[in-house]
Amino acid sequence: AVPVALVAGLSRAAHFGVLIKGAKPLEAMARIRTLIVDKTGTLTEGRPRIVSIDSHIGISEVEILRFAAALEQASQHPVAQAIVAIAKEQGLTLPVPSEVAEIPGEGVVGSVQGRKIVVGGASFVARRIGQTSDNHSSLAAGSVLVAVAVDGKMAGHLVMADPLRKGVETMFKRLRQEGVARILLATGDRPEVAERVAEGLGLDGLRAGLTPDQKVLLVLTERKNGPVMMVGDGVNDAPALAAADVGVAMGARGAAASAEAADVVLLVDQVDRLGPGIVIARRARRIAI
Ligand code: ADP
Ligand code: MG
Repeated sequence: AVPVALVAGLSRAAHFGVLIKGAKPLEAMARIRTLIVDKTGTLTEGRPRIVSIDSHIGISEVEILRFAAALEQASQHPVAQAIVAIAKEQGLTLPVPSEVAEIPGEGVVGSVQGRKIVVGGASFVARRIGQTSDNHSSLAAGSVLVAVAVDGKMAGHLVMADPLRKGVETMFKRLRQEGVARILLATGDRPEVAERVAEGLGLDGLRAGLTPDQKVLLVLTERKNGPVMMVGDGVNDAPALAAADVGVAMGARGAAASAEAADVVLLVDQVDRLGPGIVIARRARRIAI
């Protein structure tokens, strides 16, 4: 039977919006040494706003937004959802795209009104249209940069700002007091953006430009030093959540795949709930053993 203290811990954590899927993950949570956090949608709000739109080949800014949003309807990525919402707020009617394929954590390809569109991270889009690099990247260090290609040509960029969530710094301090010795940021985004977000957070390391598989590899490598907790929100995080000792999903707005793969689901859209979550887990374990 499961000790009463653990059952009480589960119920107490749920009260804080931290859904722990059983006594085993609760115990594991009490022993975490390393925390790996995803960036977009986890450390940041994941509701970026558009700062500016640049157009390069004579397709207007509004058309670039319309093409991008039409295709992003197919994606659950927080950046994609933000682009769709902004386009609709501006009163744009979005055509239904065809031949759509999403590459998780990178972007979407497809056809919109007979034109071949690629939308996504700037380096992904550059690669898809056969450019070796996106020479625009350096202009927008620190912001999320979404590129849009039309019929094989780089047509424009959406420069977007995605602010850090409230309470992250305080939460990290608290977790360190609770015995978390190492905190790493892992993101599919560019290093410049990751560095800007990490500034002042006192992280022990930062890995950028990671594919979903590379996030898994990072988790497995870190597990050699002790129990690892991985927190993420996206489809691209699901394998890493499953590979961690404790996978935590941002349940309120994150991808369903990440909530399924996780041992712990944050039912409120606040990553700092991990603070009380860990405190409760440690207390419950102390009483139970
Ligand atoms: P993280 O790993 O930090 O959550 P992701 O790997 O999910 O970040 O996304 C990193 C970057 O990839 C985003 O900031 C964005 O530039 C780009 N990206 C991924 N998917 C999409 C998409 N569907 N549309 C536009 N950009 C995308
Ligand atoms: Mg994410």
